Amino acid sequence: MKVAGSLAEYAALATGHRINPPAALVPTMGALHEGHRSLISLARARAELVVVSIFVNPLQFGAGEDFARYPRPLADDLAVCAAEGVDIVFAPPVSDLYAADRQVTVSAGALGRVLEGAARPGHFDGVLTVVLKLFHIVNPGLAVFGQKDAQQLACVQRMVTDLNLDVEVLGAPIVRDEDGLALSSRNSYLSPTERLLARNLSAALEKAGTQPSVPSARAAAYEVLDRATDDPAFALDYATLVDPATFREVADDHTGTAIFVVAARIGQTRLIDNTTLTFG
Ligand code: AMP
Repeated sequence: MKVAGSLAEYAALATGHRINPPAALVPTMGALHEGHRSLISLARARAELVVVSIFVNPLQFGAGEDFARYPRPLADDLAVCAAEGVDIVFAPPVSDLYAADRQVTVSAGALGRVLEGAARPGHFDGVLTVVLKLFHIVNPGLAVFGQKDAQQLACVQRMVTDLNLDVEVLGAPIVRDEDGLALSSRNSYLSPTERLLARNLSAALEKAGTQPSVPSARAAAYEVLDRATDDPAFALDYATLVDPATFREVADDHTGTAIFVVAARIGQTRLIDNTTLTFG
């Protein structure tokens, strides 16, 4: 495994790999867990050259969010990548990707302004800007993203379509802990009691998944979430069933697939989760 700690090192390493074989890219912010590992192993199964980027992207963090304290255990991450058979880890400093006088960014459009985009203004513009830059730098044939960040995955797919990018985007299933909690680098912020509260997110989604209709799925999830909000440490941000393409709320008589997305603040930690349901 080769590690490129800068853009110049990546350019030197990647020479000769740009066309043949096409790389599979797994973009991450590090603090790698089993969820990331599953993405890497999907990439590994599909491509001869696997590139993992580790970059805590300042553009996707709002003022007052956790950019400064986001975990950055690089040595551990490199060990995970080596164990997963990654070929190249690209871990540049912020100054390599963002010049002080930069001006041009990507707009995620309407899809980037609802739900997570409403809670975190500019978040998806920041995500798409760095993803497009990584696509240009790595030139992958395949890029793997987790369904855990469903709206992010939809935004990336939208960008690939709208900007005619020649990259296949693969969505990977959500990896969960034994108690149902979706794995996230931010779970490390949770105290033991907060972690118990956090289980309500996946529990609500699980309940919704047993229901035959949109109204009953909403009711089942809200029963769990309403109980959770009795604890002042649990603040629900949103819980709604949305169209997978637009992330707009579906009608009560909706048939076909819909994504139940949920976000909550537990103590100081904001967590998101989702599940894809089929009705009718
Ligand atoms: P992050 O490092 O949080 O930016 O995540 C990097 C990639 O890993 C994104 O595509 C995420 O959707 C994906 N990911 C994060 N957590 C999980 C999980 N529990 N299951 C599957 N994919 C995940």
